[in-house]
Amino acid sequence: MLVTDRKEHLLPLLKTHFGYDNFRPNQLEVIQDVMSTNDVLAIMPTGGGKSLCFQLPALALEGTAIVVSPLIALMKDQVDVLQANGIAAAYSNSSQPYEVQQEILQQLKSGSLKLFYVAPESIGQFDAVFQEIKISLFAIDEAHCISSWGHDFRPAYAQLGSLKARFLDIPVMALTATADKTTQDDIAEQLSIPHASRHLASFNRPNLYLDVRPGQDRMKQILNFLRERSDESGIIYCLSRKSTQLLAEKLQQSGYDAKAYHAGMSTEERTQVQEDFINDRTPIICATIAFGMGIDKSNVRWVIHYNLPKNLEGYYQEIGRSGRDGLPAHTLLFYSYADVVQLRKFIADSENAQVQFAKLERMQQYAEALSCRRIALLNYFGEHVTEGCGNCDICKAPPSYFDATLLTQKICSAVARMNEKEPMGTLIDVLRGAQNAQVFEKGLQHVKTYGAVKEISWQDLQQYVIQLLNQGVLEINFRENSRISLTPLAKEILYDKKPVQLAVLNQVEQQVEKKARTRKEKQGLFEKLRVLRYQIAKEQGVPAYVVFGDASLKDME
Ligand code: ADP
Ligand code: MG
Ligand code: ZN
Repeated sequence: MLVTDRKEHLLPLLKTHFGYDNFRPNQLEVIQDVMSTNDVLAIMPTGGGKSLCFQLPALALEGTAIVVSPLIALMKDQVDVLQANGIAAAYSNSSQPYEVQQEILQQLKSGSLKLFYVAPESIGQFDAVFQEIKISLFAIDEAHCISSWGHDFRPAYAQLGSLKARFLDIPVMALTATADKTTQDDIAEQLSIPHASRHLASFNRPNLYLDVRPGQDRMKQILNFLRERSDESGIIYCLSRKSTQLLAEKLQQSGYDAKAYHAGMSTEERTQVQEDFINDRTPIICATIAFGMGIDKSNVRWVIHYNLPKNLEGYYQEIGRSGRDGLPAHTLLFYSYADVVQLRKFIADSENAQVQFAKLERMQQYAEALSCRRIALLNYFGEHVTEGCGNCDICKAPPSYFDATLLTQKICSAVARMNEKEPMGTLIDVLRGAQNAQVFEKGLQHVKTYGAVKEISWQDLQQYVIQLLNQGVLEINFRENSRISLTPLAKEILYDKKPVQLAVLNQVEQQVEKKARTRKEKQGLFEKLRVLRYQIAKEQGVPAYVVFGDASLKDME
């Protein structure tokens, strides 16, 4: 070690090499951990300063730090900055001329590099060299890419799984901005760093307004939205390449300067669109989720999800691209059941389909939340927050709540008595005293809370359980059969009688009521709602979530 890991030794390094006077939240802890040769899993929001967490130790420790990064653009940006600060850094890029590649290889071999960036696809090429040189640490950036449970799986990351075994004494750092608890566990497992210490920085971005609206007449809603936002930069995420183009065209016809972006375009086209956006030449980008990783633009004022994202990790990552300057930004999610149907089709063929279905369901539950959206989001990532944010659509216009402390205690107690091992359906069955094979096979009729909430219908009870998920009282463990478990908050409710408020149900009907313009329309909607819920539940064997948004009904016809 060139420098100790004491703060007073690290601060001058921070100042000299990076020009900063102090650490951001969690940076020092992560740095000290890796400098004590511990494996580390650092979950910090975008812009939180993850790079510094490996760059500074790289300078402080002997040897070369190997940084794995998914995109050439990301590597180049970082290496440029490091070099400008006089730090010996390089990246491997197969499109570099042969001579350049050779030169970098020489630098790597001679041990003169403090940081060496490499894509997961090419790391194998350097295996022999890595065995010869002194390596200070491995940093796996955007580590969620290793997990097929996450939202941006890259098969090439799988190669990183054997690093730990081959380089036993070298600490491995995994860094990401988006990993729910399931993904966090999986990253640690895939990288063979089960004992990695976890640093979870706050995910809260209080300046982002969280808004969810029914997907009816999306185009009209978007035009209204944009009317008040001339000159502001924003991104509209769509589900398909085609729809990014169609939407961009429509917006152009309405006089907006919008461009499409998707993975099907040529690299040149994409770079052009990206640069035009970053340099404020094109204010609006209609994009697939291919857009955004590594784009560092601070003044994105809004993000719209034209379609429902696949899961909350992706959603949070995407809305997180707005408001990086800390100024207010508006995020708007359109929710329609048609999107859910579409997404279920996409997911059906993919790996881990069951987990992805479960995550999609959780996404839906978020969209249908009846309490503060931020509470739901933050708890999903493992941050236990209970205070309403005041900056989301629900906090702005809250539904009516009732004191549900007793009901919640019963629900939590049932979860506890089943050893937190059962999924939602079984929990509800047990609470309602259902007499079915599943319950009997597991002997759950002997659970003390069996039949404790007979008076509430299955559907309503399910809605309450979902509300408890959204309030961070309960959580779903996707990797373990979607079993439901208790959070620390649940324990406070059970043992310290902390009061709980739940929203009065049938508000979905109330929402339809508010939205319908005529009595006839209202009746029609209610009827369709009923039929739809029933059909979906039956056909797909999924819980009949409350569906609102008549666009979805329309689309289903
Ligand atoms: P992340 O990878 O977490 O999204 P970056 O590592 O790209 O974030 O850092 C985001 C920005 O914050 C960069 O411009 C970086 O220079 C800056 N930054 C990092 N650490 C600090 C610090 N301690 N003080 C001030 N700025 C910092
Ligand atoms: Mg980063
Ligand atoms: Zn809120």
